[in-house]
Amino acid sequence: MDNLYNRLNEYYKNKFGERVLKICVDGGFTCPNRDGTKGVDGCIFCSERGSGEHIKYRDVSNQIAEHLASYRGQRANKFIVYFQNFSNTYANIEKLKSVYDKAFVSDKIVGISIATRPDCINNEVVNLLKEYNKKIFVSVELGLQTADDNIMNILNLKYTVKDFKMAVSLLKDAGINIVAHMMLGLPQESKESIDNTIELINDLGVDGIKIHNTYVVKNTKLEELYIKGLYKPLELNEYIEKLGYVLARLSPDIVIHRLSGDAEKDKLVAPDWDLHKKWIVNGITKYLKDNNLKQGVLYKSA
Ligand code: SF4
Repeated sequence: MDNLYNRLNEYYKNKFGERVLKICVDGGFTCPNRDGTKGVDGCIFCSERGSGEHIKYRDVSNQIAEHLASYRGQRANKFIVYFQNFSNTYANIEKLKSVYDKAFVSDKIVGISIATRPDCINNEVVNLLKEYNKKIFVSVELGLQTADDNIMNILNLKYTVKDFKMAVSLLKDAGINIVAHMMLGLPQESKESIDNTIELINDLGVDGIKIHNTYVVKNTKLEELYIKGLYKPLELNEYIEKLGYVLARLSPDIVIHRLSGDAEKDKLVAPDWDLHKKWIVNGITKYLKDNNLKQGVLYKSA
């Protein structure tokens, strides 16, 4: 870790010996909270594309080949394919295998990273991932957002803390790298809900975390709440303060994958500052330095 937090690019450099970048792809999956299995409305913040707005769905191998052939493919020698949109373990095993196999179009691909919901992890999926993990780096990004049941209900996540714990346990037993997603500025968030989320993430021993502020995207339930004045996003300084609070209490071993969201300009409703990642990164650096904090200084192990 450098002197402030455990940065992802350092982790990759240590692991792969050089810079590694991600290639975001749409694997063509859906989500049980969209297709009617658990619900049709989705999580209240979820965009129409289930994250990864900028990605156009087409054959996965083509998405990767185009990326590698573009100027972005010249920016590193090693890449991790990130299956981003919707729930990327939500299909039968044959379909999952056929989609994941399409990632390996070049020797430059050194890993796959798979975003999904905790309730879309089961023994069959883990056994499949375990096979890939023997040959290549595999990471699973699990949505958590919060460990507070009440807020989970408001968000309409339709998965539970129990689902998250179960998914982490199965993946950990299989030796698969786990990244948790956490959001700040959620409706009815409290110090207690943040503390509980930090505690859960620390206690379960996940390997990495993505944290971002809650932002409002067009055509979502959250947009309706925002328009009615029933939801107010954090100001930048409020987010930085909460982020500093979380980082100081996270285990110093957890790798920080990101500290900002990735809303598209034409889809973002609020807050405007969300488009300025540098403001967030510079803001948290200054905040940590000014307050003599760094990741893990206030970490309490279980
Ligand atoms: S689990 Fe993910 S893809 Fe599914 S509705 Fe929620 S945010 Fe969207």
